[in-house]
Amino acid sequence: MTFHGYTADLPSAGVRPEAARARSHLFNDRNVARYRNALSAGAERVAARVLRTERPFSGISPSRLAPEVSGIDLELPLHDPSAALDELDDVYLRDAVYFHHPRYLAHLNCPVVIPALLGEAVLSAVNSSLDTWDQSAGATLIERRLIDWTAGRIGLGPGADGVFTSGGTQSNFQALLLSREEACAAAMARSPLSRHDVLSRLRVLTSEAGHFSVRKSAKLLGLAPDAVISVETDPDRRMRPAALARELERCRREDLPVMAVVATAGTTDFGSIDPLPEIADLCERAGVWLHVDAAYGCGLLVSRTRRDLLDGIERADSVTVDFHKSFFQPVSSSALLVRDAAVLRHATYHADYLNPARMVEQRIPNQVDKSIQTTRRFDALKLWLTLRIMGPDAVGELFDEVVDRAADAWALLAADPRFEVVTRSQLSTVVFRYLPPEGPGRTLADDANLYARDALSASGEAVVAGTKVDGHHYLKFTLLNPETSLDDIAHVLDLIANHAGRYIEDRAPLQTCHRAG
Ligand SMILES: *Cc1c(COP(=O)(O)O)cnc(C)c1O
Repeated sequence: MTFHGYTADLPSAGVRPEAARARSHLFNDRNVARYRNALSAGAERVAARVLRTERPFSGISPSRLAPEVSGIDLELPLHDPSAALDELDDVYLRDAVYFHHPRYLAHLNCPVVIPALLGEAVLSAVNSSLDTWDQSAGATLIERRLIDWTAGRIGLGPGADGVFTSGGTQSNFQALLLSREEACAAAMARSPLSRHDVLSRLRVLTSEAGHFSVRKSAKLLGLAPDAVISVETDPDRRMRPAALARELERCRREDLPVMAVVATAGTTDFGSIDPLPEIADLCERAGVWLHVDAAYGCGLLVSRTRRDLLDGIERADSVTVDFHKSFFQPVSSSALLVRDAAVLRHATYHADYLNPARMVEQRIPNQVDKSIQTTRRFDALKLWLTLRIMGPDAVGELFDEVVDRAADAWALLAADPRFEVVTRSQLSTVVFRYLPPEGPGRTLADDANLYARDALSASGEAVVAGTKVDGHHYLKFTLLNPETSLDDIAHVLDLIANHAGRYIEDRAPLQTCHRAG
Protein backbone atom coordinates (compact mmCIF):
# COMPACT_ATOMS: atom_id res chain seq x y z
CA MET A 1 0.00 0.00 0.00
CA THR A 2 1.10 3.54 -0.74
CA PHE A 3 1.39 6.16 1.93
CA HIS A 4 -1.99 7.52 0.94
CA GLY A 5 -3.55 4.12 1.31
CA TYR A 6 -2.82 4.42 5.02
CA THR A 7 -6.18 3.70 6.61
CA ALA A 8 -8.00 5.68 9.22
CA ASP A 9 -8.07 2.82 11.67
CA LEU A 10 -4.29 2.58 11.98
CA PRO A 11 -2.89 5.15 14.37
CA SER A 12 0.05 7.10 12.99
CA ALA A 13 3.32 6.35 14.70
CA GLY A 14 3.68 8.41 17.84
CA VAL A 15 0.05 9.59 17.84
CA ARG A 16 -1.99 8.86 20.96
CA PRO A 17 -4.91 6.53 20.20
CA GLU A 18 -7.54 9.13 21.19
CA ALA A 19 -5.90 11.66 18.92
CA ALA A 20 -5.73 9.15 16.07
CA ARG A 21 -9.39 8.32 16.60
CA ALA A 22 -10.37 12.01 16.56
CA ARG A 23 -8.28 12.59 13.45
CA SER A 24 -9.98 9.76 11.62
CA HIS A 25 -13.05 12.02 11.39
CA LEU A 26 -11.23 14.73 9.49
CA PHE A 27 -12.07 15.02 5.84
CA ASN A 28 -8.81 14.36 4.01
CA ASP A 29 -7.08 11.96 1.68
CA ARG A 30 -6.66 9.36 4.41
CA ASN A 31 -10.32 9.25 5.24
CA VAL A 32 -12.05 9.23 1.88
CA ALA A 33 -13.57 5.84 2.58
CA ARG A 34 -15.21 7.19 5.73
CA TYR A 35 -16.38 10.27 3.79
CA ARG A 36 -17.91 8.16 1.02
CA ASN A 37 -19.60 5.82 3.47
CA ALA A 38 -20.99 8.57 5.68
CA LEU A 39 -22.37 10.60 2.79
CA SER A 40 -23.91 7.65 1.02
CA ALA A 41 -25.42 6.42 4.29
CA GLY A 42 -26.89 9.90 4.83
CA ALA A 43 -28.25 10.09 1.29
CA GLU A 44 -29.64 6.58 1.66
CA ARG A 45 -31.41 7.53 4.89
CA VAL A 46 -32.98 10.63 3.38
CA ALA A 47 -33.98 8.67 0.26
CA ALA A 48 -35.61 5.95 2.35
CA ARG A 49 -37.48 8.58 4.38
CA VAL A 50 -38.66 10.40 1.27
CA LEU A 51 -39.87 7.11 -0.23
CA ARG A 52 -41.93 6.51 2.90
CA THR A 53 -43.31 10.05 3.25
CA GLU A 54 -47.04 10.01 2.75
CA ARG A 55 -47.80 13.37 4.28
CA PRO A 56 -45.93 16.68 4.31
CA PHE A 57 -45.81 16.65 8.10
CA SER A 58 -46.39 14.19 10.91
CA GLY A 59 -48.40 16.80 12.80
CA ILE A 60 -46.27 16.41 15.92
CA SER A 61 -46.48 19.19 18.51
CA PRO A 62 -43.42 20.94 20.00
CA SER A 63 -44.29 19.58 23.45
CA ARG A 64 -44.17 15.99 22.20
CA LEU A 65 -40.99 16.39 20.19
CA ALA A 66 -38.99 18.48 22.65
CA PRO A 67 -38.37 15.67 25.19
CA GLU A 68 -36.91 13.49 22.41
CA VAL A 69 -34.34 16.18 21.67
CA SER A 70 -33.59 17.15 25.24
CA GLY A 71 -33.32 13.50 26.25
CA ILE A 72 -30.17 13.05 24.20
CA ASP A 73 -26.91 13.14 26.14
CA LEU A 74 -24.54 15.25 24.09
CA GLU A 75 -21.63 14.18 26.29
CA LEU A 76 -22.08 10.60 25.20
CA PRO A 77 -21.24 10.14 21.49
CA LEU A 78 -22.50 7.12 19.57
CA HIS A 79 -19.29 6.81 17.52
CA ASP A 80 -21.26 5.13 14.77
CA PRO A 81 -22.82 7.14 11.88
CA SER A 82 -25.48 4.54 11.41
CA ALA A 83 -26.56 4.72 15.07
CA ALA A 84 -26.51 8.52 14.88
CA LEU A 85 -28.72 8.39 11.78
CA ASP A 86 -31.14 6.06 13.58
CA GLU A 87 -31.35 8.59 16.36
CA LEU A 88 -31.73 11.43 13.87
CA ASP A 89 -34.69 9.64 12.37
CA ASP A 90 -36.39 9.90 15.76
CA VAL A 91 -35.57 13.49 16.55
CA TYR A 92 -35.76 15.03 13.10
CA LEU A 93 -36.32 13.09 9.90
CA ARG A 94 -39.50 11.29 10.92
CA ASP A 95 -41.27 14.51 11.89
CA ALA A 96 -39.66 17.01 9.55
CA VAL A 97 -41.76 19.22 7.30
CA TYR A 98 -41.24 17.98 3.75
CA PHE A 99 -41.37 20.65 1.08
CA HIS A 100 -41.16 18.13 -1.73
CA HIS A 101 -44.56 16.77 -0.78
CA PRO A 102 -47.31 17.93 -3.17
CA ARG A 103 -49.60 18.91 -0.28
CA TYR A 104 -47.05 21.21 1.34
CA LEU A 105 -48.66 24.48 0.27
CA ALA A 106 -47.63 26.91 2.98
CA HIS A 107 -44.64 29.19 2.68
CA LEU A 108 -42.14 30.20 0.01
CA ASN A 109 -40.21 26.94 0.36
CA CYS A 110 -39.52 25.16 -2.85
CA PRO A 111 -38.81 21.54 -3.58
CA VAL A 112 -35.12 21.49 -4.47
CA VAL A 113 -33.49 20.31 -7.68
CA ILE A 114 -30.96 17.49 -7.52
CA PRO A 115 -28.13 19.37 -9.30
CA ALA A 116 -28.26 21.90 -6.44
CA LEU A 117 -28.07 19.12 -3.84
CA LEU A 118 -25.01 17.86 -5.63
CA GLY A 119 -23.58 21.37 -5.42
CA GLU A 120 -24.40 21.49 -1.71
CA ALA A 121 -22.45 18.29 -1.07
CA VAL A 122 -19.45 19.51 -3.05
CA LEU A 123 -19.33 23.01 -1.62
CA SER A 124 -19.47 21.93 1.99
CA ALA A 125 -16.77 19.28 1.54
CA VAL A 126 -14.33 21.63 -0.18
CA ASN A 127 -15.55 24.37 2.18
CA SER A 128 -14.28 27.37 0.22
CA SER A 129 -14.91 30.68 1.89
CA LEU A 130 -15.93 33.46 -0.43
CA ASP A 131 -14.45 36.34 1.51
CA THR A 132 -11.09 36.35 -0.24
CA TRP A 133 -9.47 34.99 -3.33
CA ASP A 134 -6.89 33.21 -1.17
CA GLN A 135 -9.69 31.18 0.46
CA SER A 136 -11.68 30.41 -2.64
CA ALA A 137 -9.89 30.83 -5.99
CA GLY A 138 -12.22 29.51 -8.71
CA ALA A 139 -15.22 29.76 -6.37
CA THR A 140 -14.88 33.56 -6.44
CA LEU A 141 -14.80 33.53 -10.25
CA ILE A 142 -17.83 31.26 -10.43
CA GLU A 143 -19.78 33.53 -8.06
CA ARG A 144 -18.79 36.54 -10.15
CA ARG A 145 -19.91 34.84 -13.38
CA LEU A 146 -23.29 34.10 -11.81
CA ILE A 147 -23.65 37.68 -10.58
CA ASP A 148 -22.91 38.87 -14.11
CA TRP A 149 -25.34 36.33 -15.53
CA THR A 150 -28.11 37.43 -13.16
CA ALA A 151 -27.43 41.13 -13.76
CA GLY A 152 -27.56 40.34 -17.48
CA ARG A 153 -30.94 38.64 -17.14
CA ILE A 154 -32.21 41.67 -15.23
CA GLY A 155 -30.69 44.03 -17.79
CA LEU A 156 -28.78 46.22 -15.35
CA GLY A 157 -26.13 47.20 -17.88
CA PRO A 158 -22.34 46.92 -18.10
CA GLY A 159 -21.58 48.73 -14.82
CA ALA A 160 -23.50 46.24 -12.69
CA ASP A 161 -22.19 44.08 -9.91
CA GLY A 162 -23.43 42.33 -6.79
CA VAL A 163 -22.79 39.63 -4.29
CA PHE A 164 -24.41 36.46 -2.99
CA THR A 165 -26.09 36.76 0.40
CA SER A 166 -27.77 34.54 2.95
CA GLY A 167 -31.30 35.52 1.92
CA GLY A 168 -33.71 38.20 0.83
CA THR A 169 -33.65 39.83 4.25
CA GLN A 170 -29.91 40.34 4.03
CA SER A 171 -30.08 41.44 0.39
CA ASN A 172 -32.74 44.03 1.23
CA PHE A 173 -30.74 45.17 4.23
CA GLN A 174 -27.60 45.65 2.20
CA ALA A 175 -29.47 47.48 -0.56
CA LEU A 176 -30.87 49.87 2.02
CA LEU A 177 -27.45 50.29 3.61
CA LEU A 178 -26.01 51.34 0.24
CA SER A 179 -28.91 53.67 -0.48
CA ARG A 180 -28.66 55.19 3.01
CA GLU A 181 -25.01 56.04 2.43
CA GLU A 182 -25.76 57.60 -0.95
CA ALA A 183 -28.70 59.56 0.46
CA CYS A 184 -26.73 60.76 3.49
CA ALA A 185 -23.88 61.98 1.35
CA ALA A 186 -26.26 63.80 -1.00
CA ALA A 187 -28.25 65.42 1.83
CA MET A 188 -25.13 66.53 3.68
CA ALA A 189 -23.72 68.05 0.50
CA ARG A 190 -26.94 70.07 0.10
CA SER A 191 -27.50 71.25 3.64
CA PRO A 192 -25.62 72.02 6.84
CA LEU A 193 -27.33 69.14 8.66
CA SER A 194 -25.20 66.69 10.63
CA ARG A 195 -25.20 63.02 9.70
CA HIS A 196 -27.23 62.34 12.82
CA ASP A 197 -29.88 64.85 11.77
CA VAL A 198 -30.01 63.49 8.25
CA LEU A 199 -30.41 59.91 9.53
CA SER A 200 -33.40 60.93 11.58
CA ARG A 201 -35.08 62.51 8.55
CA LEU A 202 -34.48 59.81 5.92
CA ARG A 203 -37.55 58.05 4.59
CA VAL A 204 -38.13 54.76 2.75
CA LEU A 205 -41.27 54.22 0.70
CA THR A 206 -42.68 50.77 0.14
CA SER A 207 -46.15 49.40 -0.44
CA GLU A 208 -48.48 48.12 2.23
CA ALA A 209 -47.77 44.64 0.89
CA GLY A 210 -43.98 45.07 1.00
CA HIS A 211 -41.82 42.69 3.03
CA PHE A 212 -41.31 43.27 6.75
CA SER A 213 -37.53 43.05 6.31
CA VAL A 214 -37.71 46.62 4.99
CA ARG A 215 -38.88 47.82 8.42
CA LYS A 216 -36.40 45.64 10.20
CA SER A 217 -33.59 47.01 8.03
CA ALA A 218 -34.66 50.58 8.72
CA LYS A 219 -34.33 49.89 12.42
CA LEU A 220 -30.92 48.26 12.02
CA LEU A 221 -29.82 51.20 9.90
CA GLY A 222 -30.58 53.67 12.67
CA LEU A 223 -33.48 55.36 10.92
CA ALA A 224 -36.36 56.96 12.78
CA PRO A 225 -39.20 54.71 13.97
CA ASP A 226 -41.51 56.30 11.38
CA ALA A 227 -38.93 56.15 8.57
CA VAL A 228 -40.78 53.56 6.49
CA ILE A 229 -43.85 55.00 4.83
CA SER A 230 -46.48 52.58 3.54
CA VAL A 231 -47.69 53.45 0.10
CA GLU A 232 -51.27 52.55 -0.70
CA THR A 233 -51.97 49.58 -2.97
CA ASP A 234 -54.71 49.02 -5.52
CA PRO A 235 -57.26 46.18 -5.23
CA ASP A 236 -54.70 43.86 -6.87
CA ARG A 237 -52.27 44.71 -4.03
CA ARG A 238 -49.90 46.57 -6.31
CA MET A 239 -48.42 49.90 -5.30
CA ARG A 240 -50.45 52.80 -6.67
CA PRO A 241 -48.13 55.06 -8.64
CA ALA A 242 -50.36 58.05 -7.89
CA ALA A 243 -50.04 57.35 -4.17
CA LEU A 244 -46.28 57.03 -4.54
CA ALA A 245 -46.15 60.35 -6.38
CA ARG A 246 -48.15 61.93 -3.56
CA GLU A 247 -45.82 60.59 -0.87
CA LEU A 248 -42.71 61.64 -2.78
CA GLU A 249 -44.15 65.13 -3.10
CA ARG A 250 -45.10 65.25 0.59
CA CYS A 251 -41.58 64.21 1.62
CA ARG A 252 -40.13 66.86 -0.66
CA ARG A 253 -42.37 69.54 0.86
CA GLU A 254 -41.50 68.46 4.38
CA ASP A 255 -37.82 68.30 3.51
CA LEU A 256 -37.57 64.60 4.33
CA PRO A 257 -35.01 63.00 2.00
CA VAL A 258 -36.34 59.77 0.48
CA MET A 259 -33.42 57.36 0.55
CA ALA A 260 -35.14 54.60 -1.40
CA VAL A 261 -38.36 53.42 -2.91
CA VAL A 262 -38.69 49.66 -2.44
CA ALA A 263 -40.87 48.15 -5.13
CA THR A 264 -41.84 44.52 -4.72
CA ALA A 265 -41.76 42.11 -7.66
CA GLY A 266 -43.81 39.36 -6.10
CA THR A 267 -45.32 40.24 -2.73
CA THR A 268 -45.07 37.42 -0.21
CA ASP A 269 -48.79 37.15 0.38
CA PHE A 270 -50.37 38.12 -2.91
CA GLY A 271 -47.69 37.47 -5.52
CA SER A 272 -48.39 40.95 -6.84
CA ILE A 273 -45.81 42.83 -8.86
CA ASP A 274 -45.67 46.59 -8.38
CA PRO A 275 -45.94 48.60 -11.64
CA LEU A 276 -42.20 48.85 -12.16
CA PRO A 277 -42.06 51.16 -15.22
CA GLU A 278 -44.28 53.81 -13.60
CA ILE A 279 -42.38 53.54 -10.32
CA ALA A 280 -39.06 53.79 -12.16
CA ASP A 281 -40.30 56.98 -13.90
CA LEU A 282 -41.24 58.55 -10.57
CA CYS A 283 -37.92 57.59 -8.97
CA GLU A 284 -36.00 58.93 -11.90
CA ARG A 285 -37.83 62.24 -11.78
CA ALA A 286 -37.32 62.56 -8.03
CA GLY A 287 -33.72 61.35 -8.18
CA VAL A 288 -34.52 58.58 -5.72
CA TRP A 289 -32.86 55.16 -5.42
CA LEU A 290 -35.13 52.37 -6.68
CA HIS A 291 -34.72 49.00 -5.02
CA VAL A 292 -36.71 46.11 -6.46
CA ASP A 293 -37.35 43.28 -4.03
CA ALA A 294 -37.69 40.33 -6.41
CA ALA A 295 -37.01 37.72 -3.71
CA TYR A 296 -40.04 35.81 -4.93
CA GLY A 297 -40.58 37.06 -8.48
CA CYS A 298 -37.00 36.44 -9.62
CA GLY A 299 -38.05 33.08 -11.08
CA LEU A 300 -39.60 35.09 -13.92
CA LEU A 301 -36.08 35.97 -15.04
CA VAL A 302 -35.86 32.49 -16.55
CA SER A 303 -39.48 32.14 -17.65
CA ARG A 304 -39.93 31.83 -21.38
CA THR A 305 -43.53 32.99 -21.22
CA ARG A 306 -43.77 35.62 -18.47
CA ARG A 307 -40.48 37.53 -18.39
CA ASP A 308 -42.42 40.64 -19.42
CA LEU A 309 -44.04 40.79 -15.96
CA LEU A 310 -40.68 42.08 -14.75
CA ASP A 311 -40.42 44.81 -17.38
CA GLY A 312 -38.95 47.90 -15.74
CA ILE A 313 -36.77 45.94 -13.32
CA GLU A 314 -33.78 46.84 -15.51
CA ARG A 315 -34.16 50.45 -14.32
CA ALA A 316 -33.56 49.57 -10.66
CA ASP A 317 -30.53 50.77 -8.73
CA SER A 318 -30.53 47.51 -6.80
CA VAL A 319 -32.38 44.21 -6.95
CA THR A 320 -32.89 41.38 -4.46
CA VAL A 321 -33.21 37.85 -5.85
CA ASP A 322 -33.79 34.72 -3.77
CA PHE A 323 -32.63 31.67 -5.66
CA HIS A 324 -33.86 29.63 -2.71
CA LYS A 325 -37.43 30.61 -3.52
CA SER A 326 -38.20 30.48 -7.20
CA PHE A 327 -35.03 28.87 -8.59
CA PHE A 328 -35.61 25.63 -6.64
CA GLN A 329 -32.36 25.97 -4.70
CA PRO A 330 -31.78 24.76 -1.15
CA VAL A 331 -31.51 27.38 1.60
CA SER A 332 -29.48 29.57 1.46
CA SER A 333 -28.99 31.14 -1.91
CA SER A 334 -29.74 34.76 -2.56
CA ALA A 335 -28.07 37.75 -4.17
CA LEU A 336 -28.06 41.50 -4.22
CA LEU A 337 -27.43 43.12 -7.60
CA VAL A 338 -26.57 46.78 -8.13
CA ARG A 339 -26.61 48.89 -11.28
CA ASP A 340 -23.42 50.75 -10.34
CA ALA A 341 -20.63 48.56 -9.00
CA ALA A 342 -19.08 51.58 -7.27
CA VAL A 343 -21.85 51.77 -4.63
CA LEU A 344 -20.64 48.51 -3.13
CA ARG A 345 -17.74 50.51 -1.70
CA HIS A 346 -20.04 51.36 1.21
CA ALA A 347 -19.54 47.77 2.35
CA THR A 348 -15.76 47.91 1.96
CA TYR A 349 -13.47 47.85 4.97
CA HIS A 350 -9.88 46.69 4.86
CA ALA A 351 -8.23 44.43 7.41
CA ASP A 352 -4.49 43.92 7.33
CA TYR A 353 -4.83 40.22 7.98
CA LEU A 354 -7.44 39.63 5.28
CA ASN A 355 -7.90 42.07 2.47
CA PRO A 356 -5.40 44.92 2.73
CA ALA A 357 -6.09 47.90 0.46
CA ARG A 358 -3.06 47.13 -1.72
CA MET A 359 -4.89 44.04 -2.99
CA VAL A 360 -7.39 46.32 -4.73
CA GLU A 361 -4.54 47.83 -6.76
CA GLN A 362 -3.20 44.37 -7.44
CA ARG A 363 -6.65 43.51 -8.78
CA ILE A 364 -7.01 40.54 -6.48
CA PRO A 365 -10.73 39.72 -6.39
CA ASN A 366 -11.79 39.72 -2.74
CA GLN A 367 -15.55 39.41 -2.48
CA VAL A 368 -15.50 40.49 1.16
CA ASP A 369 -14.99 44.02 -0.19
CA LYS A 370 -18.60 43.85 -1.44
CA SER A 371 -20.24 41.85 1.30
CA ILE A 372 -21.53 42.51 4.79
CA GLN A 373 -20.50 38.98 5.73
CA THR A 374 -16.90 37.83 6.15
CA THR A 375 -16.67 34.03 6.10
CA ARG A 376 -19.25 33.10 3.50
CA ARG A 377 -20.51 29.88 1.92
CA PHE A 378 -20.02 29.08 -1.74
CA ASP A 379 -23.78 28.96 -2.27
CA ALA A 380 -23.31 30.03 -5.86
CA LEU A 381 -22.09 26.54 -6.71
CA LYS A 382 -25.62 25.17 -6.37
CA LEU A 383 -26.93 27.57 -8.98
CA TRP A 384 -23.89 26.91 -11.16
CA LEU A 385 -24.49 23.16 -11.28
CA THR A 386 -28.21 23.77 -11.76
CA LEU A 387 -27.54 25.91 -14.82
CA ARG A 388 -24.83 23.56 -16.13
CA ILE A 389 -26.95 20.42 -15.72
CA MET A 390 -30.53 21.59 -16.26
CA GLY A 391 -30.13 24.99 -17.87
CA PRO A 392 -32.15 28.15 -17.20
CA ASP A 393 -35.09 27.20 -19.40
CA ALA A 394 -35.77 24.09 -17.34
CA VAL A 395 -35.84 26.16 -14.14
CA GLY A 396 -38.20 28.63 -15.82
CA GLU A 397 -40.35 25.72 -16.92
CA LEU A 398 -40.79 24.61 -13.30
CA PHE A 399 -41.72 28.11 -12.15
CA ASP A 400 -44.11 28.68 -15.06
CA GLU A 401 -45.86 25.50 -14.16
CA VAL A 402 -46.62 26.58 -10.59
CA VAL A 403 -47.80 29.97 -11.78
CA ASP A 404 -50.22 28.22 -14.14
CA ARG A 405 -51.38 25.94 -11.34
CA ALA A 406 -52.07 28.91 -9.07
CA ALA A 407 -54.29 30.44 -11.75
CA ASP A 408 -56.23 27.17 -11.96
CA ALA A 409 -56.48 27.01 -8.17
CA TRP A 410 -57.81 30.55 -8.11
CA ALA A 411 -60.50 29.65 -10.66
CA LEU A 412 -61.40 26.58 -8.63
CA LEU A 413 -61.84 28.69 -5.50
CA ALA A 414 -63.71 31.45 -7.27
CA ALA A 415 -66.29 28.89 -8.41
CA ASP A 416 -66.65 27.29 -4.97
CA PRO A 417 -69.34 28.85 -2.76
CA ARG A 418 -67.69 27.48 0.39
CA PHE A 419 -64.82 29.89 -0.07
CA GLU A 420 -64.03 33.50 -0.71
CA VAL A 421 -60.88 34.21 -2.70
CA VAL A 422 -58.84 37.41 -2.76
CA THR A 423 -57.03 38.96 -5.73
CA ARG A 424 -55.69 36.78 -8.45
CA SER A 425 -51.94 36.42 -8.01
CA GLN A 426 -49.51 37.24 -10.81
CA LEU A 427 -47.29 34.51 -9.36
CA SER A 428 -48.17 31.39 -7.40
CA THR A 429 -50.01 32.32 -4.21
CA VAL A 430 -53.73 32.00 -3.57
CA VAL A 431 -55.23 33.85 -0.59
CA PHE A 432 -58.71 32.69 0.40
CA ARG A 433 -60.90 31.82 3.32
CA TYR A 434 -63.65 29.49 4.30
CA LEU A 435 -66.89 31.43 4.33
CA PRO A 436 -69.43 29.97 6.75
CA PRO A 437 -72.97 29.75 5.40
CA GLU A 438 -75.22 32.76 6.03
CA GLY A 439 -76.38 32.83 9.63
CA PRO A 440 -74.90 33.18 13.08
CA GLY A 441 -71.86 31.11 12.05
CA ARG A 442 -70.69 33.96 9.79
CA THR A 443 -69.27 35.86 12.72
CA LEU A 444 -67.02 32.87 13.47
CA ALA A 445 -65.28 33.03 10.11
CA ASP A 446 -61.95 34.27 11.52
CA ASP A 447 -61.75 31.62 14.20
CA ALA A 448 -62.95 28.88 11.88
CA ASN A 449 -60.15 29.61 9.43
CA LEU A 450 -57.53 29.74 12.17
CA TYR A 451 -58.86 26.48 13.52
CA ALA A 452 -58.92 24.79 10.11
CA ARG A 453 -55.30 25.69 9.49
CA ASP A 454 -54.14 24.26 12.80
CA ALA A 455 -56.31 21.16 12.51
CA LEU A 456 -55.00 20.51 9.03
CA SER A 457 -51.40 20.84 10.14
CA ALA A 458 -51.97 18.63 13.18
CA SER A 459 -53.41 15.95 10.89
CA GLY A 460 -50.33 16.25 8.71
CA GLU A 461 -52.53 15.80 5.64
CA ALA A 462 -51.48 19.16 4.25
CA VAL A 463 -49.75 22.33 5.37
CA VAL A 464 -51.15 25.71 4.38
CA ALA A 465 -50.25 29.23 5.50
CA GLY A 466 -52.35 31.92 7.06
CA THR A 467 -52.33 35.67 6.76
CA LYS A 468 -54.50 38.66 7.52
CA VAL A 469 -56.34 40.65 4.90
CA ASP A 470 -57.99 43.90 6.00
CA GLY A 471 -57.96 42.67 9.58
CA HIS A 472 -59.45 39.23 8.87
CA HIS A 473 -57.86 35.81 9.01
CA TYR A 474 -57.31 34.20 5.64
CA LEU A 475 -55.58 31.07 4.44
CA LYS A 476 -52.89 30.99 1.83
CA PHE A 477 -51.49 28.50 -0.63
CA THR A 478 -48.01 29.21 -1.87
CA LEU A 479 -47.50 26.88 -4.78
CA LEU A 480 -43.90 26.14 -5.66
CA ASN A 481 -44.14 22.46 -6.43
CA PRO A 482 -44.98 21.50 -10.00
CA GLU A 483 -45.95 18.06 -8.63
CA THR A 484 -48.92 19.62 -6.82
CA SER A 485 -51.92 18.78 -8.96
CA LEU A 486 -55.28 20.50 -9.10
CA ASP A 487 -56.67 17.32 -7.52
CA ASP A 488 -54.32 17.81 -4.56
CA ILE A 489 -55.63 21.33 -4.21
CA ALA A 490 -59.28 20.26 -4.47
CA HIS A 491 -58.64 17.60 -1.86
CA VAL A 492 -57.04 20.09 0.54
CA LEU A 493 -59.99 22.47 0.05
CA ASP A 494 -62.35 19.67 1.08
CA LEU A 495 -60.28 19.01 4.18
CA ILE A 496 -60.31 22.71 5.09
CA ALA A 497 -64.07 22.98 4.54
CA ASN A 498 -64.61 19.93 6.76
CA HIS A 499 -62.46 21.24 9.61
CA ALA A 500 -63.91 24.74 9.45
CA GLY A 501 -67.46 23.45 8.99
CA ARG A 502 -67.14 21.23 12.06
CA TYR A 503 -65.82 24.17 14.07
CA ILE A 504 -68.88 26.23 13.12
CA GLU A 505 -71.31 23.41 13.81
CA ASP A 506 -69.86 22.89 17.25
CA ARG A 507 -70.13 26.52 18.17
CA ALA A 508 -72.84 28.22 16.16
CA PRO A 509 -75.74 26.80 18.25
CA LEU A 510 -74.05 28.04 21.43
CA GLN A 511 -73.71 31.41 19.92
CA THR A 512 -77.35 31.44 18.86
CA CYS A 513 -78.38 30.58 22.46
CA HIS A 514 -76.09 33.21 23.84
CA ARG A 515 -77.59 35.82 21.56
CA ALA A 516 -81.13 34.70 22.33
CA GLY A 517 -80.39 34.81 26.06
C1 LIG B 1 -39.03 35.88 1.43
C2 LIG B 1 -38.99 37.30 1.12
C3 LIG B 1 -37.99 38.12 1.65
C4 LIG B 1 -37.00 37.62 2.68
O1 LIG B 1 -36.17 36.65 2.16
P1 LIG B 1 -35.42 35.59 3.10
O2 LIG B 1 -34.64 34.80 2.12
O3 LIG B 1 -36.50 34.81 3.78
O4 LIG B 1 -34.59 36.35 4.06
C5 LIG B 1 -37.94 39.43 1.25
N1 LIG B 1 -38.84 39.91 0.38
C6 LIG B 1 -39.85 39.18 -0.13
C7 LIG B 1 -40.82 39.79 -1.08
C8 LIG B 1 -39.95 37.83 0.23
O5 LIG B 1 -40.95 37.09 -0.26
